[in-house]
Amino acid sequence: MPQDSARIPILHARRIIVKVGSAVLAPGGELSQDAVDGLADQIAKQKRKGRQIALVSSGAVASGFRQLGLETPPKSIRLKQAAAAIGQQRLMAAWAQGFAKSRNQVAQVLLTAEDFDHRSRFLNARHTLETLLEHGVVPVINENDSVSFDEIKLGDNDRLSALAASMLRADLLVMLSSAPGLLAGRQVVPVVENLRSAREHVRPDKSGVGTGGMTTKLDAAEVALRVGIPAVIAPGNLDGVLGRLLEGESVGTLFQGRKRGSEDSPDARRRWLGLSARPRGAILVDAGAAAALQRRGASLLSPGIVSVEGDFERGAIIEIRHERSCIARGLTAYSAAEIDKFRGRKAGEIGKLLGYVLSDEVVHRDDLLLTEDGA
Ligand code: GLU
Repeated sequence: MPQDSARIPILHARRIIVKVGSAVLAPGGELSQDAVDGLADQIAKQKRKGRQIALVSSGAVASGFRQLGLETPPKSIRLKQAAAAIGQQRLMAAWAQGFAKSRNQVAQVLLTAEDFDHRSRFLNARHTLETLLEHGVVPVINENDSVSFDEIKLGDNDRLSALAASMLRADLLVMLSSAPGLLAGRQVVPVVENLRSAREHVRPDKSGVGTGGMTTKLDAAEVALRVGIPAVIAPGNLDGVLGRLLEGESVGTLFQGRKRGSEDSPDARRRWLGLSARPRGAILVDAGAAAALQRRGASLLSPGIVSVEGDFERGAIIEIRHERSCIARGLTAYSAAEIDKFRGRKAGEIGKLLGYVLSDEVVHRDDLLLTEDGA
Protein backbone atom coordinates (compact mmCIF):
# COMPACT_ATOMS: atom_id res chain seq x y z
CA MET A 1 0.00 0.00 0.00
CA PRO A 2 1.25 3.48 -0.72
CA GLN A 3 2.54 5.08 2.41
CA ASP A 4 2.96 8.61 1.26
CA SER A 5 1.62 10.75 -1.53
CA ALA A 6 5.13 11.53 -2.76
CA ARG A 7 5.30 7.97 -4.03
CA ILE A 8 2.14 8.11 -6.11
CA PRO A 9 3.99 8.90 -9.39
CA ILE A 10 5.89 5.64 -8.87
CA LEU A 11 2.64 3.68 -9.06
CA HIS A 12 1.95 5.11 -12.48
CA ALA A 13 5.45 4.77 -13.86
CA ARG A 14 5.25 2.88 -17.13
CA ARG A 15 8.73 3.17 -18.59
CA ILE A 16 11.42 2.52 -16.03
CA ILE A 17 15.20 2.40 -16.09
CA VAL A 18 16.59 -0.03 -13.56
CA LYS A 19 20.28 0.33 -12.82
CA VAL A 20 22.06 -2.51 -11.05
CA GLY A 21 25.54 -2.03 -9.73
CA SER A 22 28.39 -4.50 -9.52
CA ALA A 23 28.05 -4.55 -5.73
CA VAL A 24 24.58 -6.07 -6.15
CA LEU A 25 25.33 -8.39 -9.08
CA ALA A 26 28.81 -9.45 -8.09
CA PRO A 27 29.08 -9.27 -4.33
CA GLY A 28 32.60 -10.29 -3.40
CA GLY A 29 33.75 -9.55 -6.95
CA GLU A 30 32.18 -12.58 -8.62
CA LEU A 31 29.05 -12.40 -10.78
CA SER A 32 26.21 -14.13 -8.95
CA GLN A 33 23.77 -15.98 -11.22
CA ASP A 34 21.35 -16.08 -8.27
CA ALA A 35 21.35 -12.31 -8.02
CA VAL A 36 20.81 -12.04 -11.79
CA ASP A 37 18.00 -14.63 -11.76
CA GLY A 38 16.23 -12.92 -8.87
CA LEU A 39 16.25 -9.55 -10.59
CA ALA A 40 15.26 -11.02 -13.94
CA ASP A 41 12.20 -12.60 -12.26
CA GLN A 42 11.23 -9.33 -10.64
CA ILE A 43 11.56 -7.46 -13.92
CA ALA A 44 9.57 -10.11 -15.79
CA LYS A 45 6.76 -9.71 -13.24
CA GLN A 46 6.66 -5.96 -13.78
CA LYS A 47 6.65 -6.41 -17.55
CA ARG A 48 3.61 -8.63 -17.26
CA LYS A 49 1.90 -5.68 -15.59
CA GLY A 50 2.50 -3.63 -18.73
CA ARG A 51 5.64 -1.84 -17.68
CA GLN A 52 8.60 -1.31 -20.01
CA ILE A 53 11.93 -1.85 -18.31
CA ALA A 54 15.41 -1.15 -19.60
CA LEU A 55 18.29 -2.36 -17.51
CA VAL A 56 21.59 -0.62 -17.00
CA SER A 57 23.84 -3.39 -15.81
CA SER A 58 27.34 -3.10 -14.48
CA GLY A 59 29.46 -6.13 -13.89
CA ALA A 60 31.45 -6.51 -17.11
CA VAL A 61 34.81 -5.92 -15.46
CA ALA A 62 33.80 -7.97 -12.42
CA SER A 63 32.81 -10.88 -14.71
CA GLY A 64 35.97 -10.88 -16.76
CA PHE A 65 39.07 -10.08 -14.76
CA ARG A 66 39.65 -13.60 -13.46
CA GLN A 67 39.86 -14.92 -17.02
CA LEU A 68 42.86 -12.64 -17.44
CA GLY A 69 44.55 -14.46 -14.59
CA LEU A 70 44.03 -11.59 -12.15
CA GLU A 71 42.99 -12.16 -8.56
CA THR A 72 41.68 -8.71 -7.78
CA PRO A 73 39.76 -6.21 -9.96
CA PRO A 74 42.24 -4.35 -12.17
CA LYS A 75 43.09 -0.69 -11.71
CA SER A 76 44.71 0.14 -15.05
CA ILE A 77 42.52 1.23 -17.96
CA ARG A 78 44.02 -1.35 -20.33
CA LEU A 79 43.31 -4.25 -18.01
CA LYS A 80 39.83 -2.95 -17.23
CA GLN A 81 39.10 -2.71 -20.95
CA ALA A 82 40.37 -6.22 -21.56
CA ALA A 83 38.44 -7.57 -18.57
CA ALA A 84 35.27 -5.82 -19.78
CA ALA A 85 35.68 -7.36 -23.25
CA ILE A 86 35.72 -10.80 -21.67
CA GLY A 87 33.15 -10.06 -19.00
CA GLN A 88 30.50 -8.28 -21.09
CA GLN A 89 29.51 -11.41 -22.99
CA ARG A 90 29.51 -13.43 -19.77
CA LEU A 91 27.28 -10.78 -18.22
CA MET A 92 24.89 -10.95 -21.17
CA ALA A 93 24.86 -14.74 -21.03
CA ALA A 94 23.91 -14.48 -17.36
CA TRP A 95 21.05 -12.07 -18.12
CA ALA A 96 19.85 -14.20 -21.04
CA GLN A 97 19.79 -17.22 -18.73
CA GLY A 98 18.03 -15.22 -16.02
CA PHE A 99 15.29 -14.10 -18.42
CA ALA A 100 14.95 -17.44 -20.22
CA LYS A 101 12.53 -18.79 -17.60
CA SER A 102 10.07 -15.99 -18.25
CA ARG A 103 10.72 -16.21 -22.02
CA ASN A 104 11.91 -12.64 -22.23
CA GLN A 105 14.43 -11.64 -24.85
CA VAL A 106 17.38 -9.50 -23.88
CA ALA A 107 19.37 -7.15 -26.12
CA GLN A 108 22.83 -5.77 -25.50
CA VAL A 109 23.24 -2.03 -26.03
CA LEU A 110 26.69 -0.63 -25.35
CA LEU A 111 26.99 3.13 -25.25
CA THR A 112 29.81 5.64 -24.93
CA ALA A 113 29.79 9.32 -24.01
CA GLU A 114 29.91 10.10 -27.74
CA ASP A 115 26.49 8.56 -28.21
CA PHE A 116 25.13 11.30 -25.96
CA ASP A 117 27.32 14.06 -27.39
CA HIS A 118 26.25 13.84 -31.01
CA ARG A 119 22.66 14.54 -31.76
CA SER A 120 22.40 12.00 -34.59
CA ARG A 121 24.00 9.21 -32.56
CA PHE A 122 21.80 10.14 -29.61
CA LEU A 123 18.68 9.84 -31.76
CA ASN A 124 19.87 6.53 -33.25
CA ALA A 125 20.46 5.07 -29.82
CA ARG A 126 17.05 6.30 -28.69
CA HIS A 127 15.33 4.75 -31.71
CA THR A 128 17.02 1.41 -31.13
CA LEU A 129 16.15 1.33 -27.46
CA GLU A 130 12.57 2.45 -28.03
CA THR A 131 12.08 -0.17 -30.73
CA LEU A 132 13.37 -2.86 -28.39
CA LEU A 133 11.04 -1.72 -25.59
CA GLU A 134 8.07 -1.54 -27.93
CA HIS A 135 8.77 -5.15 -28.93
CA GLY A 136 8.82 -6.33 -25.34
CA VAL A 137 12.57 -6.92 -25.30
CA VAL A 138 14.64 -6.03 -22.24
CA PRO A 139 17.56 -3.83 -23.31
CA VAL A 140 20.62 -4.42 -21.16
CA ILE A 141 22.70 -1.27 -21.37
CA ASN A 142 26.29 -0.84 -20.27
CA GLU A 143 29.09 1.52 -21.10
CA ASN A 144 31.20 0.23 -23.98
CA ASP A 145 34.15 -0.14 -21.64
CA SER A 146 36.49 -1.89 -24.02
CA VAL A 147 36.59 1.11 -26.37
CA SER A 148 35.89 3.96 -23.94
CA PHE A 149 39.22 5.38 -22.99
CA ASP A 150 39.65 7.95 -20.28
CA GLU A 151 38.61 11.18 -21.93
CA ILE A 152 35.47 9.83 -23.49
CA LYS A 153 34.41 7.75 -20.55
CA LEU A 154 31.13 8.41 -18.79
CA GLY A 155 32.86 6.72 -15.91
CA ASP A 156 30.09 5.30 -13.84
CA ASN A 157 26.84 3.59 -14.60
CA ASP A 158 24.85 5.81 -12.25
CA ARG A 159 25.43 8.68 -14.66
CA LEU A 160 24.81 6.40 -17.63
CA SER A 161 21.48 5.32 -16.15
CA ALA A 162 20.34 8.92 -15.65
CA LEU A 163 21.30 9.83 -19.21
CA ALA A 164 19.51 6.73 -20.49
CA ALA A 165 16.41 7.71 -18.48
CA SER A 166 16.49 11.13 -20.07
CA MET A 167 17.15 9.70 -23.54
CA LEU A 168 14.18 7.35 -23.21
CA ARG A 169 11.94 9.89 -21.49
CA ALA A 170 11.45 7.36 -18.72
CA ASP A 171 8.91 7.86 -15.95
CA LEU A 172 11.25 6.64 -13.24
CA LEU A 173 14.89 5.83 -12.59
CA VAL A 174 15.60 3.10 -10.04
CA MET A 175 19.17 2.63 -8.87
CA LEU A 176 19.54 -0.66 -7.07
CA SER A 177 22.43 -0.39 -4.72
CA SER A 178 24.21 -2.30 -1.99
CA ALA A 179 23.08 0.52 0.33
CA PRO A 180 19.51 0.66 1.68
CA GLY A 181 19.09 4.22 0.39
CA LEU A 182 20.40 7.59 1.43
CA LEU A 183 21.20 7.47 5.11
CA ALA A 184 20.94 10.25 7.65
CA GLY A 185 22.77 8.70 10.56
CA ARG A 186 21.37 5.17 10.54
CA GLN A 187 17.99 6.07 9.14
CA VAL A 188 17.07 5.80 5.49
CA VAL A 189 15.72 9.13 4.25
CA PRO A 190 12.40 8.15 2.58
CA VAL A 191 11.92 11.24 0.42
CA VAL A 192 14.39 13.91 -0.64
CA GLU A 193 13.05 17.22 -1.84
CA ASN A 194 16.23 19.21 -1.63
CA LEU A 195 19.26 17.60 -3.17
CA ARG A 196 21.67 20.16 -1.89
CA SER A 197 20.88 19.43 1.73
CA ALA A 198 20.80 15.70 1.00
CA ARG A 199 24.43 15.90 -0.06
CA GLU A 200 25.37 16.83 3.48
CA HIS A 201 24.58 13.28 4.56
CA VAL A 202 27.02 11.77 2.16
CA ARG A 203 30.47 10.66 3.10
CA PRO A 204 32.89 10.23 0.23
CA ASP A 205 33.07 6.44 0.55
CA LYS A 206 32.70 3.85 -2.15
CA SER A 207 31.46 0.32 -2.43
CA GLY A 208 34.21 -2.24 -2.94
CA VAL A 209 33.48 -3.52 -6.44
CA GLY A 210 31.67 -0.82 -8.39
CA THR A 211 32.84 2.53 -9.64
CA GLY A 212 30.15 4.62 -8.06
CA GLY A 213 29.12 5.42 -4.52
CA MET A 214 26.45 7.57 -2.96
CA THR A 215 27.89 10.73 -4.53
CA THR A 216 27.54 9.45 -8.10
CA LYS A 217 24.01 8.30 -7.26
CA LEU A 218 23.06 11.76 -6.05
CA ASP A 219 24.63 13.25 -9.19
CA ALA A 220 22.55 10.85 -11.27
CA ALA A 221 19.40 11.72 -9.32
CA GLU A 222 20.13 15.38 -10.00
CA VAL A 223 20.43 14.77 -13.74
CA ALA A 224 17.14 12.86 -13.76
CA LEU A 225 15.31 15.45 -11.66
CA ARG A 226 16.37 18.23 -13.97
CA VAL A 227 14.29 16.66 -16.70
CA GLY A 228 11.44 15.87 -14.37
CA ILE A 229 12.19 12.18 -13.82
CA PRO A 230 11.92 11.00 -10.22
CA ALA A 231 14.76 8.76 -9.05
CA VAL A 232 15.00 6.14 -6.34
CA ILE A 233 17.96 4.57 -4.61
CA ALA A 234 16.84 1.23 -3.24
CA PRO A 235 18.49 -1.83 -1.73
CA GLY A 236 19.15 -4.31 -4.53
CA ASN A 237 19.36 -7.28 -2.21
CA LEU A 238 16.02 -6.73 -0.49
CA ASP A 239 13.58 -9.51 -1.35
CA GLY A 240 11.16 -8.43 -4.08
CA VAL A 241 12.47 -4.88 -3.92
CA LEU A 242 11.22 -3.85 -7.34
CA GLY A 243 7.64 -5.00 -6.83
CA ARG A 244 7.50 -3.48 -3.38
CA LEU A 245 8.86 -0.20 -4.59
CA LEU A 246 6.58 -0.03 -7.60
CA GLU A 247 3.54 -0.80 -5.47
CA GLY A 248 4.28 2.27 -3.43
CA GLU A 249 5.96 0.77 -0.39
CA SER A 250 8.39 3.14 1.24
CA VAL A 251 11.66 1.37 0.40
CA GLY A 252 14.86 3.24 -0.28
CA THR A 253 15.04 6.95 -0.95
CA LEU A 254 12.84 8.76 -3.44
CA PHE A 255 14.13 11.93 -5.06
CA GLN A 256 11.12 13.88 -6.12
CA GLY A 257 10.86 15.23 -9.64
CA ARG A 258 9.14 18.24 -11.06
CA LYS A 259 5.88 17.69 -12.78
CA ARG A 260 6.40 16.99 -16.41
CA GLY A 261 4.78 19.18 -18.97
CA SER A 262 5.19 22.13 -16.65
CA GLU A 263 6.35 25.32 -18.26
CA ASP A 264 9.93 24.97 -17.17
CA SER A 265 10.34 21.46 -18.51
CA PRO A 266 12.79 21.86 -21.38
CA ASP A 267 11.97 20.44 -24.76
CA ALA A 268 13.88 17.48 -26.09
CA ARG A 269 16.57 19.39 -27.91
CA ARG A 270 17.31 21.60 -24.95
CA ARG A 271 17.21 18.60 -22.68
CA TRP A 272 19.91 16.99 -24.78
CA LEU A 273 21.87 20.24 -24.78
CA GLY A 274 21.74 20.59 -21.06
CA LEU A 275 22.34 17.10 -19.92
CA SER A 276 23.78 14.71 -22.38
CA ALA A 277 26.31 16.54 -24.39
CA ARG A 278 29.63 17.67 -22.98
CA PRO A 279 30.67 21.28 -23.39
CA ARG A 280 33.70 21.99 -25.57
CA GLY A 281 34.54 25.34 -24.05
CA ALA A 282 33.08 28.36 -22.35
CA ILE A 283 32.00 31.91 -23.08
CA LEU A 284 32.40 34.27 -20.14
CA VAL A 285 29.84 37.05 -19.93
CA ASP A 286 29.38 40.23 -17.91
CA ALA A 287 26.64 40.91 -15.36
CA GLY A 288 24.39 42.64 -17.89
CA ALA A 289 24.43 39.71 -20.31
CA ALA A 290 23.96 37.23 -17.43
CA ALA A 291 20.86 39.10 -16.27
CA ALA A 292 19.50 39.31 -19.83
CA LEU A 293 19.84 35.56 -20.27
CA GLN A 294 18.53 34.63 -16.86
CA ARG A 295 15.71 37.11 -16.40
CA ARG A 296 14.64 38.13 -19.86
CA GLY A 297 15.18 34.90 -21.78
CA ALA A 298 17.37 36.80 -24.23
CA SER A 299 19.89 35.45 -26.74
CA LEU A 300 23.59 35.93 -26.09
CA LEU A 301 24.95 38.89 -28.05
CA SER A 302 28.51 40.07 -28.58
CA PRO A 303 28.65 43.15 -26.29
CA GLY A 304 28.26 41.13 -23.09
CA ILE A 305 31.04 38.67 -23.92
CA VAL A 306 34.14 39.16 -21.82
CA SER A 307 36.30 36.25 -22.97
CA VAL A 308 36.29 32.70 -24.36
CA GLU A 309 37.82 29.53 -23.04
CA GLY A 310 38.79 26.53 -25.16
CA ASP A 311 39.21 26.15 -28.90
CA PHE A 312 35.71 25.24 -30.04
CA GLU A 313 34.18 25.22 -33.50
CA ARG A 314 30.91 26.71 -34.76
CA GLY A 315 28.01 24.59 -33.61
CA ALA A 316 29.84 23.34 -30.52
CA ILE A 317 28.15 23.04 -27.18
CA ILE A 318 29.58 25.55 -24.79
CA GLU A 319 28.99 26.70 -21.26
CA ILE A 320 28.08 30.30 -20.60
CA ARG A 321 29.66 31.50 -17.40
CA HIS A 322 29.38 34.58 -15.30
CA GLU A 323 32.18 34.97 -12.77
CA ARG A 324 32.58 31.49 -11.35
CA SER A 325 29.20 30.00 -12.04
CA CYS A 326 27.92 28.30 -15.13
CA ILE A 327 24.60 29.95 -15.93
CA ALA A 328 23.68 28.27 -19.20
CA ARG A 329 24.64 25.88 -21.95
CA GLY A 330 24.13 26.45 -25.59
CA LEU A 331 25.07 25.84 -29.20
CA THR A 332 27.39 28.56 -30.42
CA ALA A 333 26.93 30.12 -33.85
CA TYR A 334 30.58 31.21 -33.96
CA SER A 335 33.90 29.52 -33.20
CA ALA A 336 36.12 30.55 -30.28
CA ALA A 337 38.53 32.30 -32.66
CA GLU A 338 35.70 34.28 -34.26
CA ILE A 339 34.19 35.29 -30.92
CA ASP A 340 37.58 36.43 -29.74
CA LYS A 341 37.65 38.94 -32.59
CA PHE A 342 34.32 40.61 -31.79
CA ARG A 343 33.77 40.04 -28.07
CA GLY A 344 32.68 43.17 -26.22
CA ARG A 345 31.73 44.94 -29.47
CA LYS A 346 28.28 45.79 -30.80
CA ALA A 347 26.45 43.14 -32.87
CA GLY A 348 26.47 45.57 -35.81
CA GLU A 349 30.27 45.52 -35.86
CA ILE A 350 30.62 41.76 -36.40
CA GLY A 351 30.56 42.13 -40.20
CA LYS A 352 33.30 44.72 -40.16
CA LEU A 353 35.50 42.71 -37.78
CA LEU A 354 35.10 39.27 -39.41
CA GLY A 355 34.28 40.17 -42.98
CA TYR A 356 30.99 38.23 -42.78
CA VAL A 357 27.99 37.81 -40.48
CA LEU A 358 26.57 34.39 -39.65
CA SER A 359 24.00 35.74 -37.20
CA ASP A 360 23.61 38.63 -34.81
CA GLU A 361 23.17 36.23 -31.92
CA VAL A 362 26.24 34.36 -30.72
CA VAL A 363 24.01 31.84 -28.96
CA HIS A 364 20.37 32.05 -29.96
CA ARG A 365 17.84 31.74 -27.14
CA ASP A 366 16.34 28.64 -28.79
CA ASP A 367 19.74 26.98 -28.57
CA LEU A 368 20.23 27.87 -24.95
CA LEU A 369 19.37 26.16 -21.71
CA LEU A 370 19.71 27.92 -18.40
CA THR A 371 21.36 25.66 -15.87
CA GLU A 372 19.97 25.13 -12.43
CA ASP A 373 22.36 27.48 -10.65
CA GLY A 374 21.33 30.29 -12.90
CA ALA A 375 17.67 29.42 -13.28
N1 GLU B 1 30.75 -0.46 -16.87
C1 GLU B 1 31.39 -1.07 -15.73
C2 GLU B 1 31.24 -2.57 -15.78
O1 GLU B 1 30.31 -3.08 -16.35
C3 GLU B 1 30.82 -0.61 -14.41
C4 GLU B 1 30.83 0.85 -14.14
C5 GLU B 1 30.24 1.10 -12.74
O2 GLU B 1 30.50 0.31 -11.84
O3 GLU B 1 29.55 2.09 -12.56
O4 GLU B 1 32.03 -3.27 -15.22
